[in-house]
Amino acid sequence: MKKIAVLTSGGDAPGMNAAVRAVTRGALAKGWQPFAVRNGYAGLLAGTIEPFDARNVGGIVQQGGTVLGSARCPEFVEAAGRKKALSNLEKLNIEALVVIGGNGSQTGSASLVREGLPVVGVPSTIDNDLYGTDVSIGADTAINVTLEAIDRLRTTASSHQRAFAVETMGRDCGYIALMAGIAGGAEVIALPEQEIAPAQVAERLRAAHQRGKTHALVEIAEGARCGVRELMHYYEEQGDSIGFDLRVTRLGHVVRGGMPGAADRVLATRLGDAAVECLARGESSVLVGILCGEIASTPLGEVAGRTRPAKAELLELARVMAM
Ligand code: ATP
Repeated sequence: MKKIAVLTSGGDAPGMNAAVRAVTRGALAKGWQPFAVRNGYAGLLAGTIEPFDARNVGGIVQQGGTVLGSARCPEFVEAAGRKKALSNLEKLNIEALVVIGGNGSQTGSASLVREGLPVVGVPSTIDNDLYGTDVSIGADTAINVTLEAIDRLRTTASSHQRAFAVETMGRDCGYIALMAGIAGGAEVIALPEQEIAPAQVAERLRAAHQRGKTHALVEIAEGARCGVRELMHYYEEQGDSIGFDLRVTRLGHVVRGGMPGAADRVLATRLGDAAVECLARGESSVLVGILCGEIASTPLGEVAGRTRPAKAELLELARVMAM
């Protein structure tokens, strides 16, 4: 019987549990023994690894976060840390690992592969910035949470003739801000991938006011050069000329939390099962993903250390739609 382990690593993302369930049940369906690792790579080092059965993953498909726990584990970045992790897996005769996580986690997967362990990565990050997949687990839910906030703020903005600047997660990649901004009809979107100064944002708001808009929304990714702080600073100095009263809302970790939507549950189920299928075919050291609508696999060596920026060209579409 083949023994495989599954872990969740890096930032939690809605849908991780559905992926854990799919890996566990997919492995059981093949007659394999699945194991779960608690707290990501930290659990591999600590040896918190236990056998899982179908009942262990019952009632989690709809839960947000990760029931396995996640952790940032600097020790694992060092070869000595990974040696300890590999020896803990060896002690249990575990032959392969499925890593559910984002960029850093899949770079860790690639290191384990180089050290001889078969690993399949499952892309999971709300930022959707992993190379090798068009869509990662958690991104769709995070966009919808952000969008709901935008829609609610629009109601109050329109009642008071205000502009709202809404900051959402995305330190290095503005995917959530871009998609939620387009879906929510934001007047201005600011991303880390793009150069936009507070004065330019203010100019767009001023122009919107002059075109007769009664309220406006600015959607800002937390890593944008024009962050909410910079924008408020500009507003304190030159606010009178903008036309709108400007308020700020930072969504923070709310964006990560809550139940995964249907799209993330289905995606996680498909990708978790695809990871098991890869191992069954002897295809390890890959990231499973969706490319052009189909399940695809990309060598982890190509994925490691690489990111996929948000499509900043869509900003022009958003700008035209904000006329
Ligand atoms: P998210 O995109 O949600 O932040 P992530 O997977 O990118 O998720 P990180 O904190 O970057 O999250 O990485 C998770 C863990 O992966 C780290 O704590 C570390 O243990 C491991 N890791 C990160 N980078 C490397 C690396 N270069 N080599 C080996 N392991 C790494």
